[in-house]
Amino acid sequence: MNAREIPEIFGTMVFNDKVMKERLPREAYDAVRRAKDEGKPLSHDYAKVVASVMKEWAIEKGATHFTHWFQPMTGITAEKHDSFIEPFGDGEVIMKFSEKSLVKGESDASSFPSGGLRATFEARGYTAWDPTSYAFVKDGSLYIPTAFCSYGGEALDKKTPLLRSMDAFNKQALRILRLFGNDKAKKVTPTVGAEQEYFLIDKSVYESRLDLVHCGRTLFGARPSKGQELEDHYYGAIKSRVSAYMKELDEELWKLGVYAKTKHNEVAPAQHELAPVFTSTNIASDQNQLTMELMKSVANKHDLVCLLHEKPFASINGSGKHNNWSIGTDLDENLLEPGETPADNAQFLLFLTAVIKAVDEYQDLLRISVASAGNDHRLGAAEAPPAIISIYLGEELDAILNAIESGETYLAKEKKELKIGVSVLPPIPKDSTDRNRTSPFAFTGNKFEFRMVGSSSNIACPNFIINTIVAEELRKFADELEGAKDFNIALNKLIRETITNHKRILFSGNNYSKEWEKEAKRRGLLNLKSTVDALVLYPAEKNVELFERHRVLSKQEINSRTEILLENYSNIVHIEALTAIDMAWKDITPAVIDYQRFLLEEIKLKKELGKNASALESRLIDKLSSLADEFALALEKLEKDTAKYDSSWSNLQKAKYCQKTLLKDMEALRSASDQMELIVGKDFGAFPTYEDILYSVKY
Ligand code: ADP
Ligand code: MG
Repeated sequence: MNAREIPEIFGTMVFNDKVMKERLPREAYDAVRRAKDEGKPLSHDYAKVVASVMKEWAIEKGATHFTHWFQPMTGITAEKHDSFIEPFGDGEVIMKFSEKSLVKGESDASSFPSGGLRATFEARGYTAWDPTSYAFVKDGSLYIPTAFCSYGGEALDKKTPLLRSMDAFNKQALRILRLFGNDKAKKVTPTVGAEQEYFLIDKSVYESRLDLVHCGRTLFGARPSKGQELEDHYYGAIKSRVSAYMKELDEELWKLGVYAKTKHNEVAPAQHELAPVFTSTNIASDQNQLTMELMKSVANKHDLVCLLHEKPFASINGSGKHNNWSIGTDLDENLLEPGETPADNAQFLLFLTAVIKAVDEYQDLLRISVASAGNDHRLGAAEAPPAIISIYLGEELDAILNAIESGETYLAKEKKELKIGVSVLPPIPKDSTDRNRTSPFAFTGNKFEFRMVGSSSNIACPNFIINTIVAEELRKFADELEGAKDFNIALNKLIRETITNHKRILFSGNNYSKEWEKEAKRRGLLNLKSTVDALVLYPAEKNVELFERHRVLSKQEINSRTEILLENYSNIVHIEALTAIDMAWKDITPAVIDYQRFLLEEIKLKKELGKNASALESRLIDKLSSLADEFALALEKLEKDTAKYDSSWSNLQKAKYCQKTLLKDMEALRSASDQMELIVGKDFGAFPTYEDILYSVKY
């Protein structure tokens, strides 16, 4: 494909606004727009028209089936395909797609995680069309983005709370805009651009490693002699196989209307990144799911495997998904962009302090929003933000907030005095070179970059949480300001007080340092190192109150989510433990025995010739035997402890056991195995090494 074709192919497989405008009768189109923009339900008659036009369009694009595409709590997307055929007359069929099939689907929810919601309700689940995210055709099916809920209306998916949080956010943000005299904006939308990191390796090495196949990460593997130390991979020239892959991936994404924008090599060998142009949180989240899916399927066509796990390799950088979050209006304003007038600037400072307050008050929720077994291996490692949440604003903004707080005159470089509501802020640098890359939540000029999100996670979760906590602070601000006698005085006071009360969350130093851990503790900030420590705080009273107030999640839904996440965590660790045991017996043990036999035979041969074994052979055999003993003991312990794991325990009990016992056992086993790997002969190796994997794509 050449560059001229891109605008032509972009979105060709999407039933987007342009297609609807062209094909739908005017009134039906307007009704869809109202459903999309204002959340007004679509009447039966219009839905009928939309369904029929959508079907005709989909058939032209090669679709024979349709599917409600949803995002259950498993973390991946789900789909069940129905063909358009319907019996007609005697042995004939017609292609049919009713209004009902578009708007609502029924599916057996019993095999999807419900975290206890199922016990009290029917096993049936319902999918409901989300008109704010476009339908598309992929692999011969019409995909209809849907929300997924139980018979009683409880959310069983990741999309529903996201949509609810966007409503809550819109409502509160509009109140603030009105206070600043903005009557024109009709809608405020949180926006997201999610930078997706991934590893790309050759299929053959992947297939010879049970841990990669079952767990998506290596459970064994000695450090390679060359890792990422030279930093020669970051932004390096892209190998031709990788580049062919990236090209096809871009093209496939463009056809599906995904704004794939940048691609480059990342820090670790075999690691890459794709970043899209930002869009609304809901669409960004659907598109990110689609991106991850295509990353895998396109890789397969190139005899490659795309690893989305947060930490596929120990001692090598893991993968994250930098979640760039900002606030946009329907008039294309960015509310986190310092403006050009004093009023715009005061408004900017208010939104900024709302985010600061939200992040400080809901550190636990932000940590929960990225909590998973995989991400635990990444957070706190040297390349990723620690589990402590803090905000980095940059030098200029720091100085401005300091001045506001102390009531001193702020003198920017051009020596202008700053007064909220009276003066214009000095330009805030957007330059990415002076960024603090160790900060988990960094202001980057007109957006915040939340860097803790794991590469495999569904971004709906961090974003519904960010949307809701900021909506809550905006609500409190609006309550206070709406009742104020003098708006400007109240505004100044509010901004100042908020800075004083929440500045402990601001930190510009090195987040990876030991000193920060101590300092954060002194400031009373949370440091929730493990998913388990974080998840138990999900149902805390303040969190329930928050989500219920904004109708994002009910108490029951929060409880169900906590259970599901804990269960998911323990399932993952339990599978890892079983996989480690399998590899220990079936791959590592035979390799070690083989190599020992080889050495012993050599020693025996020498003896027969009347020679002594050399220092090399005897040292090697001694070292190997003692490591093999260590390995055997560790394996025995892991086996015993894994056998004790009881699926009838509560989810919390299981998760704690995994965290405290199984993960530690696996570490011990790995340590012995990795040391042996370093000395066992290459031809005797149990499986492809880190070197083999990380440099498996050669050209
Ligand atoms: P940077 O140099 O700050 O990394 P980029 O322009 O490369 O800036 O953006 C990084 C990511 O942030 C991209 O995915 C981009 O779409 C996203 N982004 C930019 N502006 C916004 C915004 N207003 N809201 C959300 N995401 C944004
Ligand atoms: Mg970035």
